Amino acid sequence: TPVVGVLALQGDVREHLIALAAADAVARPVRRPEELAEVDGLVIPGGESTTISKLAALFGLLEPLRARVRAGMPVYGTCAGMIMLADKILDPRSGQETFGGIDMIVRRNAFGRQNESFEAAVDMKGVDGDPVEGVFIRAPWVESVGARVEVLAEHGGHIVAVRQDNVLATSFHPELTGDHRVHGLFVAMVRGSAAPGAL
Ligand code: GLN
Repeated sequence: TPVVGVLALQGDVREHLIALAAADAVARPVRRPEELAEVDGLVIPGGESTTISKLAALFGLLEPLRARVRAGMPVYGTCAGMIMLADKILDPRSGQETFGGIDMIVRRNAFGRQNESFEAAVDMKGVDGDPVEGVFIRAPWVESVGARVEVLAEHGGHIVAVRQDNVLATSFHPELTGDHRVHGLFVAMVRGSAAPGAL
């Protein structure tokens, strides 16, 4: 069984732990480099990306996490987590760093003030059956992607789900809906990236 961590510095950690367990992973919070070293994959939750960035630096996780992403560890980011996986943020706050991993430019709080939080049905590649219920909370969108990025979903003409190799990101929050298919997709990515017979 794959061991999947949830970066537990800030944000909706508990909901991801529950969703991962429902998707047949062993789920664990990760706060220290030693804990990061023990997981097969990692979720970066929603929350506030500037805060996650600062705490990751403070907890000594910025470089170890970048190194593991570069080495191919599967990672899934939701909302603020998507921002953390962008190689570039369009409008970063001063000192805001990302882990990177996806060749994309992300716009924070992109869906705008009048529509800060909303739900919408989202058709997502890789998730069979009904559309996913997309919960958007002060959500980013993807402004542009590089050639190696696969666009998995759009909403209102904007990219809201992407994948590059082992790195997955959504603007919305599947961990809040009780529908665990997106976590299932990610856990399958973690299983697929392991050496045969390892998990
Ligand atoms: N707007 C937040 C940010 O910039 C993200 C919101 C969320 O994760 N729900 O980090």
